[in-house]
Amino acid sequence: MPELPEVELARRQLVRWVRGARITGARSPDAKLTKPKAGAPFTRALVGRTVTAVDRRGKWLRLMTDDGTRLFLHLGMTGDFERLEPGAPAPRFERARLELSRRGKASVVAYVDARRLGHLVVSREDTKTWSKLGPDPLIDGVDVDALHARLARRKGKTIKEVLLDQTVIAGVGNIQAAEALWRAKIDPRSRADRLTRAHVAALVRAIDWSIARTLADLEAGGARYSERSKGDPAPPFVVYGRKGEPCRRCRAALERIELGGRTTTFCPRCQARIA
Ligand SMILES: [Zn+2]
Repeated sequence: MPELPEVELARRQLVRWVRGARITGARSPDAKLTKPKAGAPFTRALVGRTVTAVDRRGKWLRLMTDDGTRLFLHLGMTGDFERLEPGAPAPRFERARLELSRRGKASVVAYVDARRLGHLVVSREDTKTWSKLGPDPLIDGVDVDALHARLARRKGKTIKEVLLDQTVIAGVGNIQAAEALWRAKIDPRSRADRLTRAHVAALVRAIDWSIARTLADLEAGGARYSERSKGDPAPPFVVYGRKGEPCRRCRAALERIELGGRTTTFCPRCQARIA
């Protein structure tokens, strides 16, 4: 699933493609992906509007338009955007499209999604999901004391599970959580409510570290991690996907376990279990 860095790259692409453009056509016929209604209501809400901003919070994108109508987009597992020339054939797995006009030039932006787990939500105001998202590390920064207080209330939950809760920190997924916990030397099974302020401060720094290096890797032209194949540059991860390899800090073999239904890789020697 795309996490904060990949969605940020998608946002920058959309800024170039749609900001300042008037929407001349809009289609999202797939009722599984489109809320509140696919088809004609989606089209009516958006045609004639001009996109004034492309925002991101965590893994959600928000296209703001001139009359306050918003289009929220979530890429699910496999969502992405493609820019097409008008009249070009629809790409494989196209689920929605915007036809645009900017300074007299027409273009098309298609939303493609092989597994159909993304979301397109048209709304006149911010959705509850958007409003409840926690601080975004890149946009807001994460306040150590606020996070410490928040974790203290998560009795009996592991820190790894809590990090995936988008209302606690927005944009952290399985990759960023595993990488940050390694950097902060915290075992993913540690109890969230037992972390000291120093642990939380280290964790916040580690999340920033992990996001920054992932973003730098993607900016250097790397493909999405789910789409990399042999021959592509190796992902920059220190633990994610590296079960059995030696820890870069202490050389112990990295282990993979399941926590809250998700796998996580960590170093059993130098990541301390806080209980
Ligand atoms: Zn280690």
